[in-house]
Amino acid sequence: MQAAKAVNHIGIAVNSIDEQREFYEQTLGAVFEGTEVVTDQKVKVGFFRIGDVRLELLEPTDPTSTVAQFIEKRGQGLHHVAYTVADLPARIAELQREGIRMIDATPRTGAHNTRIAFLHPKSSRGVLTELCEPMGH
Ligand code: ZN
Repeated sequence: MQAAKAVNHIGIAVNSIDEQREFYEQTLGAVFEGTEVVTDQKVKVGFFRIGDVRLELLEPTDPTSTVAQFIEKRGQGLHHVAYTVADLPARIAELQREGIRMIDATPRTGAHNTRIAFLHPKSSRGVLTELCEPMGH
């Protein structure tokens, strides 16, 4: 089994990254690293770093975004936890052989030059789980 190497980031669904900045920067002391639009997922992503962990604030750019639907259903808050893996396609195949259901059976492009895949929530014990492979620079 290919173990996850680290928590890559924690995803938090928000209505507005701008409205949240003060809390993460001033109250928690996180370092704002900028934003990036992930067209594929219809979200704007804002990154904040605390120590070795990155927080990924997800702001929907379209009402059909899965993040918009998440906020509508459950409100703003913790959305997913992402784990670093070395070889994503191999890891997906391995999980599927173990009977784990995937939302993404093939990797897709994530923010920060990564490729990512989500496990199906039914297979990840109630916490939306993302696997994340850094692709270098
Ligand atoms: Zn993520």
